[in-house]
Amino acid sequence: MYSTLKRKTPLRAKAPLRAKKGLNTYKPLRAGASTASKPKKSGEKKQRQAAYKPVYPYASIFTADLKTCYITGSNKDSADIHVHHIFGGANKANSEKYHFLIPLRADWHDMADYGIHFNRELDLKIKRFCQDYWLEHYGTKEEFIVTFSKWW
Ligand SMILES: [Zn+2]
Repeated sequence: MYSTLKRKTPLRAKAPLRAKKGLNTYKPLRAGASTASKPKKSGEKKQRQAAYKPVYPYASIFTADLKTCYITGSNKDSADIHVHHIFGGANKANSEKYHFLIPLRADWHDMADYGIHFNRELDLKIKRFCQDYWLEHYGTKEEFIVTFSKWW
């Protein structure tokens, strides 16, 4: 019993290492494939944004002064203060209708990575503030969802 326990399966020592498949052959990157196929979108986007025509006069639940950045208090250069639609896309007009607009300095809008267009934490904070405002002034959560298609 003892000896059989001790006996080990012999290693397949003499088996030559099987040559594995050849190393992955180097595939050269297709020159310019990723960059050349993408048209520059930034100009396009700016044109689309500029083409949007407000449906309602601008007003904000956050401030009466749409020329002063709500975050920084900056108002030196009015061209540098953007009025952001808190609910964008198809809800831009709804944002105007319910005064869910906020004036932001360009960097806090969409000209830096911490700007509200790229900063999910800030975006949600502002959206949820608007939802709370809706509940206090306009209607129910269900009605908000009917209007804006989503509850944030
Ligand atoms: Zn915006």
